[in-house]
Amino acid sequence: NAAFDVLIVGGGPIGLACALEAKKAGLSYVIIEKGCVVNSLYNYPLYMTFFSTSERLEIGNVPFVSINPKPTRPEALEYYRRVATSHELNIKLFEEVQQITPNANEYTVITSHRTWHARHIIIATGFYDIPNLLNVPGEQLPKVTHYYKDPHFYATQDVLVIGAHNSAVDAALETYRKGARVTMVIREDAIGSRVKYWVKPDIENRIKEGSIKACFKSSVLAIREKEVDIATPDGNITIANDFVIAMTGYQPNFAFLENAGITLSDDAIKMPVYNPLTMETNMPRMYLAGVVCGGMNTHVWFIENSREHAGKIIAHIKGRA
Ligand code: FAD
Repeated sequence: NAAFDVLIVGGGPIGLACALEAKKAGLSYVIIEKGCVVNSLYNYPLYMTFFSTSERLEIGNVPFVSINPKPTRPEALEYYRRVATSHELNIKLFEEVQQITPNANEYTVITSHRTWHARHIIIATGFYDIPNLLNVPGEQLPKVTHYYKDPHFYATQDVLVIGAHNSAVDAALETYRKGARVTMVIREDAIGSRVKYWVKPDIENRIKEGSIKACFKSSVLAIREKEVDIATPDGNITIANDFVIAMTGYQPNFAFLENAGITLSDDAIKMPVYNPLTMETNMPRMYLAGVVCGGMNTHVWFIENSREHAGKIIAHIKGRA
């Protein structure tokens, strides 16, 4: 089969943005996505509200109309799905890219289904597939999740929420309001400074009044079927527990990047090597786009500041052609 000009790995918002730019530039392209359209957003908590206003989530200059300034997950799913379908983007779903190998002037891409060939590769795989683990005994119990969905499930239960950033705060407030008894375990001495500014006073006041308990400067030591052990500044404690929601963040698939030949910085950030002007990596004609670019610094890139990667990459590819 003939080689595409561009093969895009990942059908998230930024993969879609790259496809729109490629199409506009008259390049042949295909997106390979291992899940559904905008798979990460599909797997977000059901009732999450974006911290970005809708116009900042727009791609390809397609207006994102939402009633409230900050759209919800269902609105974002509507938007990105309609962008993909109305532009008839060439996207292959439920197909996972497993191996990318350079081959003369093109790349050979092996997926769960077949082999593709492309002159340029854009990796836009995000960071939502691999959670940062606690590495404590009991983490593998089915009552522990790194992907919080729906607060109703936790009504009347003893719930431990680990973390102090947006995901943890949303999970703590939502489950508390559906009748869970919530304790937060927080490594630092305060709620995270990047928590949505309209949510922060809510969580701080719930902690102050004692309706949500918070153990600051604390960490989980072990998880068992009916209780958890926590190390606190006042010594170790054991509390009753039915469910653990571990909102400890996520990381890009570094093995996948290294396998594709991309060099990572050898510090804790594991920053992939790329030219910020063109987004081209140390592998010629292989580009990075979207939140995958930050390495372990997953808060640096989001939709609003990484959607421009699409234009840079396609301009570079066009310029070279
Ligand atoms: P993703 O959306 O993660 O897309 C990557 C895609 O690649 C996924 O669909 C994945 O299935 C696919 N993929 C991965 N590996 C493979 C493979 N080997 N083969 C094929 N497909 C693969 N950002 C904002 O700008 N505003 C917000 O308000 C906001 N809120 C957020 C809330 C939560 C709870 C989280 C977790 C993140 C939030 N973010 C927000 C960050 C947001 O996730 C990203 O900005 C956005 O998803 C980045 O898009 P992306 O296309 O780079 O990555």
